[in-house]
Amino acid sequence: MKVGILGTGQLALMMAQANQGLGLEIIPFGGKGGKFLSSVCAPVEGDLNDQTAVDAFIDSVDVVTYESENTPVDSLIKNAEKIAPTLDALKLFQNRLLEKNFLVEQGLKTVNYQLLSTPEELDEAATTIGFPAILKTVTEGYDGRGQCLVKSLDELKAGFDELNQYCIMEGFVDFDQEISIVAVRDKQKNIAFYPVAENFHRSGQLRLSIVDGEHPLQKKAEDAIRNLLEKLDYVGCMAMEFFVKGDQLLVNEMAPRVHNSGHWTMDGADQSQFYLHIKAVAGQAISTPVISQPVAMVNCIGDMPADTAKYDRLDFVSVYDYGKEPRAERKVGHINVLGNDQSKAEFFNTLAAMLDEANETSLADLMRDRATSV
Ligand code: AMP
Repeated sequence: MKVGILGTGQLALMMAQANQGLGLEIIPFGGKGGKFLSSVCAPVEGDLNDQTAVDAFIDSVDVVTYESENTPVDSLIKNAEKIAPTLDALKLFQNRLLEKNFLVEQGLKTVNYQLLSTPEELDEAATTIGFPAILKTVTEGYDGRGQCLVKSLDELKAGFDELNQYCIMEGFVDFDQEISIVAVRDKQKNIAFYPVAENFHRSGQLRLSIVDGEHPLQKKAEDAIRNLLEKLDYVGCMAMEFFVKGDQLLVNEMAPRVHNSGHWTMDGADQSQFYLHIKAVAGQAISTPVISQPVAMVNCIGDMPADTAKYDRLDFVSVYDYGKEPRAERKVGHINVLGNDQSKAEFFNTLAAMLDEANETSLADLMRDRATSV
Protein backbone atom coordinates (compact mmCIF):
# COMPACT_ATOMS: atom_id res chain seq x y z
CA MET A 1 0.00 0.00 0.00
CA LYS A 2 1.25 3.49 -0.88
CA VAL A 3 0.88 6.10 1.87
CA GLY A 4 1.40 9.65 0.58
CA ILE A 5 2.41 12.43 2.95
CA LEU A 6 1.79 16.08 2.09
CA GLY A 7 4.98 17.71 3.31
CA THR A 8 8.67 16.78 3.37
CA GLY A 9 9.80 18.11 6.74
CA GLN A 10 10.97 16.28 9.84
CA LEU A 11 7.54 14.83 10.62
CA ALA A 12 7.45 13.19 7.18
CA LEU A 13 11.00 11.94 7.80
CA MET A 14 10.05 10.38 11.13
CA MET A 15 6.88 8.82 9.66
CA ALA A 16 8.99 7.28 6.89
CA GLN A 17 11.53 6.02 9.44
CA ALA A 18 8.71 4.44 11.46
CA ASN A 19 7.68 2.23 8.54
CA GLN A 20 9.33 -0.80 10.10
CA GLY A 21 7.76 -4.13 9.30
CA LEU A 22 4.51 -2.53 8.14
CA GLY A 23 5.14 -3.25 4.47
CA LEU A 24 3.98 0.22 3.43
CA GLU A 25 5.47 2.47 0.81
CA ILE A 26 5.79 5.97 2.30
CA ILE A 27 5.96 8.77 -0.27
CA PRO A 28 6.29 12.37 0.95
CA PHE A 29 5.35 15.18 -1.46
CA GLY A 30 6.55 18.78 -1.18
CA GLY A 31 9.65 20.96 -1.29
CA LYS A 32 13.18 19.64 -1.18
CA GLY A 33 13.33 17.78 2.15
CA GLY A 34 16.22 17.52 4.60
CA LYS A 35 19.28 15.55 3.56
CA PHE A 36 18.14 12.27 5.19
CA LEU A 37 14.66 11.99 3.69
CA SER A 38 15.65 10.29 0.45
CA SER A 39 17.66 7.67 2.34
CA VAL A 40 14.50 6.27 3.96
CA CYS A 41 11.92 6.79 1.19
CA ALA A 42 11.49 8.18 -2.32
CA PRO A 43 9.99 11.68 -1.90
CA VAL A 44 8.32 13.46 -4.81
CA GLU A 45 9.29 17.11 -5.26
CA GLY A 46 6.36 19.42 -5.98
CA ASP A 47 4.41 22.47 -4.87
CA LEU A 48 1.60 21.95 -2.37
CA ASN A 49 -0.19 24.93 -3.96
CA ASP A 50 -0.06 23.47 -7.46
CA GLN A 51 -3.46 21.81 -7.84
CA THR A 52 -2.51 19.71 -10.87
CA ALA A 53 0.60 18.37 -9.16
CA VAL A 54 -1.29 17.67 -5.90
CA ASP A 55 -4.07 15.84 -7.81
CA ALA A 56 -1.54 13.73 -9.71
CA PHE A 57 0.24 12.88 -6.45
CA ILE A 58 -2.99 11.89 -4.71
CA ASP A 59 -3.95 9.73 -7.73
CA SER A 60 -0.63 7.92 -7.48
CA VAL A 61 -1.09 6.72 -3.87
CA ASP A 62 -3.72 4.77 -1.91
CA VAL A 63 -4.11 7.05 1.08
CA VAL A 64 -2.80 10.51 1.97
CA THR A 65 -1.84 12.06 5.27
CA TYR A 66 -0.25 15.43 6.04
CA GLU A 67 2.40 16.82 8.37
CA SER A 68 1.14 20.37 8.83
CA GLU A 69 -2.17 21.92 9.87
CA ASN A 70 -1.38 24.67 7.38
CA THR A 71 -1.85 22.29 4.44
CA PRO A 72 -4.26 24.00 1.99
CA VAL A 73 -7.66 22.33 2.44
CA ASP A 74 -9.39 23.55 -0.73
CA SER A 75 -7.01 21.63 -2.97
CA LEU A 76 -7.92 18.39 -1.17
CA ILE A 77 -11.70 18.56 -1.01
CA LYS A 78 -12.39 16.53 -4.14
CA ASN A 79 -10.17 13.73 -2.79
CA ALA A 80 -11.48 14.00 0.77
CA GLU A 81 -12.20 10.26 1.14
CA LYS A 82 -8.52 9.45 0.55
CA ILE A 83 -7.23 11.86 3.21
CA ALA A 84 -6.62 10.98 6.87
CA PRO A 85 -7.01 12.57 9.36
CA THR A 86 -10.34 13.86 8.07
CA LEU A 87 -10.40 17.25 6.35
CA ASP A 88 -13.05 18.34 8.87
CA ALA A 89 -10.35 18.28 11.54
CA LEU A 90 -7.78 19.96 9.31
CA LYS A 91 -10.24 22.76 8.50
CA LEU A 92 -11.08 23.31 12.18
CA PHE A 93 -7.59 23.09 13.61
CA GLN A 94 -5.93 25.38 11.06
CA ASN A 95 -8.14 28.26 12.11
CA ARG A 96 -7.89 29.40 15.73
CA LEU A 97 -11.40 30.86 15.73
CA LEU A 98 -13.12 27.75 14.32
CA GLU A 99 -11.01 25.59 16.61
CA LYS A 100 -11.90 27.48 19.79
CA ASN A 101 -15.58 27.73 18.85
CA PHE A 102 -15.63 23.98 18.23
CA LEU A 103 -13.90 23.20 21.53
CA VAL A 104 -16.40 25.32 23.42
CA GLU A 105 -19.32 23.62 21.59
CA GLN A 106 -17.90 20.30 22.79
CA GLY A 107 -18.10 21.51 26.38
CA LEU A 108 -14.34 22.01 26.78
CA LYS A 109 -12.82 24.98 28.54
CA THR A 110 -10.51 27.37 26.69
CA VAL A 111 -8.91 30.66 27.60
CA ASN A 112 -11.32 33.64 27.20
CA TYR A 113 -11.00 34.84 23.64
CA GLN A 114 -12.45 37.29 21.20
CA LEU A 115 -12.12 37.75 17.45
CA LEU A 116 -10.68 41.09 16.32
CA SER A 117 -11.45 41.93 12.72
CA THR A 118 -11.50 45.75 12.72
CA PRO A 119 -9.72 48.45 14.77
CA GLU A 120 -13.13 49.59 16.11
CA GLU A 121 -13.40 46.35 18.11
CA LEU A 122 -10.24 46.91 20.13
CA ASP A 123 -11.65 49.12 22.92
CA GLU A 124 -14.41 46.70 23.74
CA ALA A 125 -12.06 43.69 23.59
CA ALA A 126 -9.66 45.46 25.96
CA THR A 127 -12.49 45.66 28.50
CA THR A 128 -13.84 42.14 27.94
CA ILE A 129 -10.54 40.26 27.85
CA GLY A 130 -8.37 42.65 29.88
CA PHE A 131 -4.56 42.78 30.11
CA PRO A 132 -2.10 41.18 29.82
CA ALA A 133 -3.38 39.38 26.75
CA ILE A 134 -2.00 37.58 23.73
CA LEU A 135 -2.87 38.43 20.16
CA LYS A 136 -2.70 35.50 17.76
CA THR A 137 -3.34 35.46 14.03
CA VAL A 138 -6.39 33.37 13.17
CA THR A 139 -4.46 31.35 10.60
CA GLU A 140 -0.89 30.38 9.74
CA GLY A 141 0.73 30.95 13.15
CA TYR A 142 2.98 28.26 14.63
CA ASP A 143 5.84 28.00 17.13
CA GLY A 144 4.96 31.36 18.62
CA ARG A 145 4.97 33.13 15.24
CA GLY A 146 2.03 35.39 14.49
CA GLN A 147 1.63 36.18 18.21
CA CYS A 148 2.32 39.08 20.50
CA LEU A 149 1.91 39.81 24.17
CA VAL A 150 0.05 43.07 24.84
CA LYS A 151 -0.18 44.84 28.19
CA SER A 152 -2.16 47.99 27.39
CA LEU A 153 -4.62 49.40 24.87
CA ASP A 154 -1.74 51.14 23.06
CA GLU A 155 0.14 47.86 22.75
CA LEU A 156 -3.04 46.14 21.59
CA LYS A 157 -3.46 48.73 18.82
CA ALA A 158 0.20 48.41 17.82
CA GLY A 159 0.01 44.60 17.88
CA PHE A 160 -3.16 44.53 15.79
CA ASP A 161 -1.49 46.82 13.22
CA GLU A 162 1.65 44.72 13.20
CA LEU A 163 -0.12 41.39 12.70
CA ASN A 164 -2.20 43.08 10.02
CA GLN A 165 -4.96 40.48 9.77
CA TYR A 166 -7.84 38.88 11.69
CA CYS A 167 -6.66 38.03 15.20
CA ILE A 168 -7.82 36.31 18.32
CA MET A 169 -7.25 38.22 21.51
CA GLU A 170 -6.99 35.89 24.48
CA GLY A 171 -6.31 36.43 28.15
CA PHE A 172 -2.79 35.65 29.35
CA VAL A 173 -3.02 32.59 31.60
CA ASP A 174 -0.86 32.42 34.68
CA PHE A 175 -0.81 28.64 34.40
CA ASP A 176 0.67 26.16 36.87
CA GLN A 177 1.88 23.90 34.11
CA GLU A 178 1.56 23.14 30.39
CA ILE A 179 0.73 19.60 29.35
CA SER A 180 -0.32 17.75 26.22
CA ILE A 181 -1.82 14.42 25.31
CA VAL A 182 -1.28 12.53 22.07
CA ALA A 183 -3.78 9.86 21.01
CA VAL A 184 -4.31 7.75 17.91
CA ARG A 185 -7.59 6.36 16.58
CA ASP A 186 -7.87 3.72 13.87
CA LYS A 187 -10.60 2.89 11.33
CA GLN A 188 -11.73 0.05 13.61
CA LYS A 189 -12.44 2.75 16.24
CA ASN A 190 -9.69 1.64 18.68
CA ILE A 191 -8.06 4.53 20.52
CA ALA A 192 -4.52 4.45 21.92
CA PHE A 193 -3.58 7.14 24.43
CA TYR A 194 -0.04 8.10 25.33
CA PRO A 195 0.73 9.39 28.82
CA VAL A 196 0.37 13.11 29.34
CA ALA A 197 3.63 15.02 28.82
CA GLU A 198 4.66 18.06 30.83
CA ASN A 199 5.84 20.73 28.41
CA PHE A 200 8.08 23.77 28.68
CA HIS A 201 8.01 26.51 26.06
CA ARG A 202 10.20 29.54 25.54
CA SER A 203 9.30 32.33 23.10
CA GLY A 204 6.27 30.25 22.10
CA GLN A 205 8.39 27.26 21.03
CA LEU A 206 8.43 23.89 22.73
CA ARG A 207 11.81 23.26 24.37
CA LEU A 208 11.26 20.26 26.64
CA SER A 209 8.68 17.50 27.21
CA ILE A 210 8.82 15.14 30.18
CA VAL A 211 6.83 11.99 30.88
CA ASP A 212 7.49 10.89 34.42
CA GLY A 213 4.80 8.51 35.63
CA GLU A 214 1.06 9.03 35.37
CA HIS A 215 -0.05 12.65 35.48
CA PRO A 216 -2.96 13.33 37.91
CA LEU A 217 -4.99 14.80 35.02
CA GLN A 218 -4.37 11.87 32.60
CA LYS A 219 -7.97 10.65 32.76
CA LYS A 220 -9.40 14.15 32.26
CA ALA A 221 -7.10 14.70 29.26
CA GLU A 222 -8.08 11.32 27.77
CA ASP A 223 -11.78 12.11 28.13
CA ALA A 224 -11.30 15.45 26.40
CA ILE A 225 -9.42 14.08 23.40
CA ARG A 226 -11.59 10.94 23.10
CA ASN A 227 -14.65 13.15 22.75
CA LEU A 228 -13.08 14.96 19.77
CA LEU A 229 -11.68 11.83 18.12
CA GLU A 230 -15.11 10.21 18.20
CA LYS A 231 -17.06 13.32 17.26
CA LEU A 232 -14.89 13.79 14.15
CA ASP A 233 -14.76 10.03 13.35
CA TYR A 234 -11.05 10.71 13.26
CA VAL A 235 -8.37 8.35 11.96
CA GLY A 236 -4.71 8.98 12.85
CA CYS A 237 -2.79 10.87 15.49
CA MET A 238 -4.17 13.93 17.28
CA ALA A 239 -2.54 16.15 19.90
CA MET A 240 -4.19 18.39 22.45
CA GLU A 241 -2.27 21.03 24.41
CA PHE A 242 -3.53 22.35 27.72
CA PHE A 243 -2.81 24.92 30.37
CA VAL A 244 -3.23 23.49 33.87
CA LYS A 245 -4.61 25.76 36.57
CA GLY A 246 -5.29 23.87 39.81
CA ASP A 247 -7.21 20.79 38.70
CA GLN A 248 -8.65 22.61 35.69
CA LEU A 249 -7.65 21.96 32.10
CA LEU A 250 -7.89 24.81 29.61
CA VAL A 251 -7.37 23.67 26.03
CA ASN A 252 -4.81 25.86 24.30
CA GLU A 253 -4.39 24.25 20.93
CA MET A 254 -5.09 21.15 18.83
CA ALA A 255 -2.99 19.48 16.14
CA PRO A 256 -4.45 17.02 13.61
CA ARG A 257 -1.14 15.23 13.21
CA VAL A 258 1.88 13.74 14.94
CA HIS A 259 3.17 16.29 17.43
CA ASN A 260 6.47 17.62 18.75
CA SER A 261 5.42 16.85 22.33
CA GLY A 262 5.14 13.18 21.26
CA HIS A 263 8.67 12.80 19.87
CA TRP A 264 9.72 11.08 23.10
CA THR A 265 7.62 8.08 21.96
CA MET A 266 10.42 7.12 19.53
CA ASP A 267 12.37 5.78 22.49
CA GLY A 268 10.03 5.91 25.47
CA ALA A 269 7.24 3.73 24.06
CA ASP A 270 7.28 0.33 22.35
CA GLN A 271 5.24 1.90 19.51
CA SER A 272 5.92 5.51 18.53
CA GLN A 273 3.30 8.09 17.55
CA PHE A 274 4.70 7.97 13.99
CA TYR A 275 4.32 4.18 13.79
CA LEU A 276 0.76 4.20 15.14
CA HIS A 277 -0.22 7.15 12.92
CA ILE A 278 0.85 5.55 9.65
CA LYS A 279 -0.59 2.22 10.74
CA ALA A 280 -3.95 3.85 11.44
CA VAL A 281 -4.09 5.91 8.24
CA ALA A 282 -3.17 2.78 6.26
CA GLY A 283 -6.25 1.08 7.75
CA GLN A 284 -4.42 -1.29 10.09
CA ALA A 285 -5.67 -1.86 13.65
CA ILE A 286 -3.55 -0.35 16.41
CA SER A 287 -2.85 -1.52 19.95
CA THR A 288 -2.03 0.33 23.14
CA PRO A 289 1.62 1.39 23.44
CA VAL A 290 3.61 0.34 26.50
CA ILE A 291 5.66 2.91 28.39
CA SER A 292 7.83 1.56 31.16
CA GLN A 293 10.19 4.28 32.30
CA PRO A 294 10.54 8.05 32.60
CA VAL A 295 11.50 9.76 29.37
CA ALA A 296 12.09 13.29 28.17
CA MET A 297 12.70 15.13 24.92
CA VAL A 298 14.84 18.21 24.40
CA ASN A 299 14.36 20.18 21.18
CA CYS A 300 17.42 21.36 19.28
CA ILE A 301 16.52 24.77 17.92
CA GLY A 302 18.66 26.85 15.55
CA ASP A 303 21.54 24.40 15.34
CA MET A 304 22.47 20.92 16.58
CA PRO A 305 24.66 20.87 19.71
CA ALA A 306 28.35 20.66 18.82
CA ASP A 307 29.24 17.19 19.99
CA THR A 308 26.17 15.01 20.03
CA ALA A 309 28.07 11.82 19.14
CA LYS A 310 29.46 11.42 22.65
CA TYR A 311 25.92 11.49 24.09
CA ASP A 312 24.40 9.28 21.41
CA ARG A 313 26.82 6.54 22.52
CA LEU A 314 25.08 6.40 25.93
CA ASP A 315 22.32 3.82 25.83
CA PHE A 316 19.84 6.14 27.58
CA VAL A 317 20.31 9.04 25.14
CA SER A 318 19.22 9.17 21.48
CA VAL A 319 20.03 12.11 19.27
CA TYR A 320 17.91 12.86 16.19
CA ASP A 321 19.32 15.19 13.57
CA TYR A 322 16.73 16.15 10.93
CA GLY A 323 19.47 17.02 8.41
CA LYS A 324 18.23 20.60 8.06
CA GLU A 325 20.34 23.69 7.50
CA PRO A 326 20.87 25.64 10.75
CA ARG A 327 18.71 28.74 11.05
CA ALA A 328 17.56 30.84 14.02
CA GLU A 329 14.36 29.45 15.63
CA ARG A 330 14.33 26.42 13.32
CA LYS A 331 13.74 22.98 14.83
CA VAL A 332 16.70 20.98 13.54
CA GLY A 333 16.63 17.94 15.80
CA HIS A 334 15.78 16.57 19.21
CA ILE A 335 17.35 14.49 21.97
CA ASN A 336 15.48 11.80 23.89
CA VAL A 337 16.62 10.87 27.37
CA LEU A 338 15.42 7.65 28.96
CA GLY A 339 15.18 6.83 32.67
CA ASN A 340 16.71 3.40 31.99
CA ASP A 341 18.54 2.02 35.03
CA GLN A 342 19.42 5.50 36.20
CA SER A 343 18.03 6.78 39.47
CA LYS A 344 15.54 9.64 39.16
CA ALA A 345 18.28 12.05 40.24
CA GLU A 346 20.62 10.75 37.51
CA PHE A 347 17.82 11.00 34.95
CA PHE A 348 17.18 14.65 35.76
CA ASN A 349 20.93 15.39 35.82
CA THR A 350 21.41 13.77 32.39
CA LEU A 351 18.45 15.78 31.15
CA ALA A 352 20.03 18.95 32.57
CA ALA A 353 23.27 18.15 30.69
CA MET A 354 21.32 17.76 27.41
CA LEU A 355 19.50 21.04 28.07
CA ASP A 356 22.85 22.75 28.61
CA GLU A 357 24.00 21.37 25.26
CA ALA A 358 20.85 22.80 23.68
CA ASN A 359 21.54 26.22 25.32
CA GLU A 360 18.47 25.93 27.57
CA THR A 361 20.29 26.95 30.73
CA SER A 362 17.28 27.97 32.86
CA LEU A 363 15.52 24.70 32.11
CA ALA A 364 18.76 22.86 32.86
CA ASP A 365 18.85 24.56 36.28
CA LEU A 366 15.22 23.61 36.85
CA MET A 367 16.05 19.96 36.12
CA ARG A 368 19.04 20.09 38.48
CA ASP A 369 16.62 21.33 41.16
CA ARG A 370 14.36 18.36 40.42
CA ALA A 371 17.36 16.05 40.69
CA THR A 372 18.03 17.27 44.22
CA SER A 373 14.39 17.10 45.30
CA VAL A 374 13.58 13.47 44.21
P1 AMP B 1 0.44 28.47 20.87
O1 AMP B 1 1.14 28.67 19.56
O2 AMP B 1 -0.88 29.11 20.92
O3 AMP B 1 0.41 27.03 21.27
O4 AMP B 1 1.35 29.20 21.95
C1 AMP B 1 2.69 28.81 22.17
C2 AMP B 1 3.03 28.97 23.63
O5 AMP B 1 2.88 30.36 24.03
C3 AMP B 1 2.14 28.21 24.59
O6 AMP B 1 2.53 26.87 24.69
C4 AMP B 1 2.38 29.00 25.88
O7 AMP B 1 3.62 28.70 26.46
C5 AMP B 1 2.39 30.42 25.37
N1 AMP B 1 1.00 30.94 25.37
C6 AMP B 1 0.15 30.92 24.33
N2 AMP B 1 -1.05 31.44 24.67
C7 AMP B 1 -0.96 31.78 25.97
C8 AMP B 1 -1.87 32.36 26.90
N3 AMP B 1 -3.11 32.71 26.56
N4 AMP B 1 -1.43 32.57 28.17
C9 AMP B 1 -0.17 32.25 28.54
N5 AMP B 1 0.74 31.70 27.71
C10 AMP B 1 0.36 31.47 26.43
